[in-house]
Parts: sequence; C-alpha cells; structure tokens
Amino acid sequence: MSVEKVLNTIKENDIQFVDFRFVDLGGRAHHITLPSTEVDSDTFVNGVAFDGSSIVGFRGIEESDMVMMPDTESVFIDPFTDHPTLNIMCNIHTPDGARYERDPRSIAQKAEEYLQTSGIGTAAFFAPESEFFIFDDVRYDSTMNSSFFSVDSEEAAWNTGRKEEGGNLGFKVGVKGGYVPVAPVDSQQDIRSEMVRLMQETGLRVERHHHEVATAGQAEINFRFDTLTKTADNLLKYKYIIHNVARQYGKVATFMPKPLFGDNGSGMHVHSSIFNGDTPLFYEKGAYANLSEMAMHYIGGILHHAPALIALTNPSTNSFKRLVPGYEAPVNLVFSKGNRSAAVRIPVAAVTPKGCRIEFRTPDSTANPYLCFAAMLLAGLDGVKKKLDPSALGYGPFDKNIYELSDEEKKEIRSVPGTLDEALDALEADFEFLTEGDVFTEEFIQNYVAVKRQEAKAVAIRVHPYEYGLYFDC
Ligand code: GLN
Ligand code: MG
Ligand code: MG
Ligand code: MG
Repeated sequence: MSVEKVLNTIKENDIQFVDFRFVDLGGRAHHITLPSTEVDSDTFVNGVAFDGSSIVGFRGIEESDMVMMPDTESVFIDPFTDHPTLNIMCNIHTPDGARYERDPRSIAQKAEEYLQTSGIGTAAFFAPESEFFIFDDVRYDSTMNSSFFSVDSEEAAWNTGRKEEGGNLGFKVGVKGGYVPVAPVDSQQDIRSEMVRLMQETGLRVERHHHEVATAGQAEINFRFDTLTKTADNLLKYKYIIHNVARQYGKVATFMPKPLFGDNGSGMHVHSSIFNGDTPLFYEKGAYANLSEMAMHYIGGILHHAPALIALTNPSTNSFKRLVPGYEAPVNLVFSKGNRSAAVRIPVAAVTPKGCRIEFRTPDSTANPYLCFAAMLLAGLDGVKKKLDPSALGYGPFDKNIYELSDEEKKEIRSVPGTLDEALDALEADFEFLTEGDVFTEEFIQNYVAVKRQEAKAVAIRVHPYEYGLYFDC
C-alpha cells in the first residue's frame, strides 16, 4: 500500500489514532500512538522516535534514541480500540537512518534479501501452527499447583490434579483427551470462532480452527502461508487478537510451551518451502515423500544446525519442558514422512506440488517469529549451498516407531538440546550460518546469548515448589 493510500484509509475510515508498533528481541509488540491529525506523509519519511534503552536487549542509556520506520504494507484497523485506530508495523532504525542491527523485523527482511541474492530462489514461504491454551483468568490455576506440589510419580501427578477437581467429570476434557471433540466437551468453540472472525476482518486468511489434544482448552487456529516477514507480521496479529479476545471473554490465553506438567504442551510447527517465481522448488514426483534434492539439502541444513537453531526457535527455559518424549513434541533430530516425534516431518496427505513443504516441529511460540523464520531459512539455505544430505549424515528417514527401534539403532539418533543453556552453548559454537549475508551480526548473537543466559540463570537460582516435596523433610 502506498503512503497516499494509507492517508486515504485514515480519512475514509475516520481514523482518529495511528498506532506505530515494533517488536522486541523476545517477539513482543510495543506501540506508540499518534492522533491522526499528527500523521502526514512526512511521518513516513522521518519515522516516530522512541527510547530504545527501556526495551530489554536493545540500546544502552547513553545511545537510547531510536526511530520506528512504518511499513505501509502492514496496516490494519485495530478491532479492539474504542476510538478508530490504524495499526502499522515498523522497522527500527538508528537516528542516522540505518537499519538497527538488533531489530528482528529488519533481520527477517535481510534474510529474504539474502535468499534473493543467493540465486537459489525468489521467495520462501512460511506457515506456523501456533498452539495455545485458554485458561480462566487467574494467574496460576489449580491444575498447575497440584502438579507443582505433587511428589507422586509423573503419572500420578496429573491424576491428582484431575481428582482434586471432584464432582461429575462427564463432558470434561481429560488429560490428552482434547483432540477435536464436539461441544459440550469443547466449550471454547465460540471464543475461537470470534478470534477467527476478527482475524478475517483484519485481513488474515484463516483456514481452520480446532480444540487441541491437551485438556483445559488447548486450541489451534491455522492461517494461510505467506512470505517470511509477512508471516511473522501475521503471527503478531494472530497473537494480539487471541490475547485480546480471550480477555473480552474473561479468560486468558497463553502461548507458553508447557504450562501444564503431564499433558501436551503448545508447539509452533513451522512449514516452509522455496519458490522460484511460480515454480515450487521442493517438489519432485516419485522421490522420497515427493521431495526434490534441494528440499532434502534444506532438511540437511536444518537438522545439522538444529542444536544452535533451537536457541532461536525454542528460546525459553520452559521450551525444554515441552521437548520431552510422550507428548507429540519432537525430541529426535531426524526426518520422517509421518513420525510426529521427528523434528522434521514431511506432510504427505493432500499435498499438491505447490503445497509441497517441510514441517519443522521443534519451534514454539516463545520464539520471536522474525528471528525464528530467518534462522530456519539460513540453516536450510546453508544445507542447500553445502549439499548436506540428511540421509548420509544419519538423520533418517525414520518412518518406523522410534520407540520400537533396537538400542543399537537408537544410539545413532541425536536428540534436541535438553536445556536453554545447552542450546545457547550450541549457538555459540555454530553461528556462522546465521551471519551469511550479514543477516544476523556476530554482535547480535553475543547480545542475544547474554540476554538469554541471564534469563536461564534467573530461573535456575529460584527455589522451585517441587523441591519442597523432594527435600523439605530431609
Ligand atoms: N502439541 C504438540 C506439540 O507440542 C503437537 C500436537 C499436534 O499438533 N499434533 O508440538
Ligand atoms: Mg495443526
Ligand atoms: Mg497442533
Ligand atoms: Mg503440525
């Protein structure tokens, strides 16, 4: 959309406020609002100033002035404000007009530019399946507390939680019992439908919504794939609408990967593919899972760099509580056509040549989508450039049930890192694939690792409720 068109949109819709938004290192949106009377074509040239020193992981107090540069491609009318408001996503620039090297959105755009200059393809498409829970609006609900304090075996911990509920358990979703039952078991259809309605109203093309496997209102809404930065913008809009509709219903939505011990967590499986103009480059009829050699090398890059990549796709201490066996979250660094415990799955049902893609199942929604998609693309492209063959490197395909493999066979399989610190160690040891084309800078990685180490430490030094069960009466 041109600047002129944005200014017309403001006039035609009697817009009173314009909301300028940027995204921080952790993927959260921030905003500064201007009365529309203060917005003219100059605003799109000069940008909107803000203080970068108050945003975690950005600038120091001594060089705090930053500028939001609006991207007119990303406007939508806010469905929640009392006063008509237009939202615009912005890149972050330094006062001298350069793209700020820690701005996640600029990094996403640089990754797309890098793909175009690599000669490999013209566009990469992404589609995330971002799962979430809708809870009653209390800070910590009783299910969580019971599992925190229980000292029984893992299995007994969640049973205790359910029994404590008491009463008639008819039509209640049991542990891992939430996959697509109709109402009244599914009590959140209307909330999800309202979320979808507002997503459509604000320009997202939604494909479907459903109740997910976990108890207590786990949900998933799928919107259509798009190019890298647009999909990250869409994901921010998706989360904004989900959080705010939940609030309107007196609920709270969370994208935390593992809010409930003993039940499925929330992932953000990311589908991706590369095109050259209109030609899909991942499709080759008759090959394994109809995947081209380029797609195989892309998988090779993702799996080869996975331990480091995961520091960006699973960037929270809680991420690693999801990546454990038994909950449909991947633990094995392998690829497969059907196996849901594989880190890379190739969907084969109802797939057209243009829809041919790979699904990286590791990520979760604590990932900053701009950094997550950019890092995935760079890992995949490194595989394409170096012709990394995932089979020769021992990553599969593993189409059998991995739990039924012999010990010898299992030994061959590498696992995802076990903690955030392990993933950060891997990133420190393997980040050159990210600095190709200066998409990520070394300075960015160092700062990112420092911020995340601090987070991991802050969690590690705190006394955990479960420790009382283990140690209090020693
Ligand atoms: N919730 C699962 C995960 O953590 C995925 C379940 C599914 O979509 N089949 O990845
Ligand atoms: Mg899904
Ligand atoms: Mg799902
Ligand atoms: Mg999936």
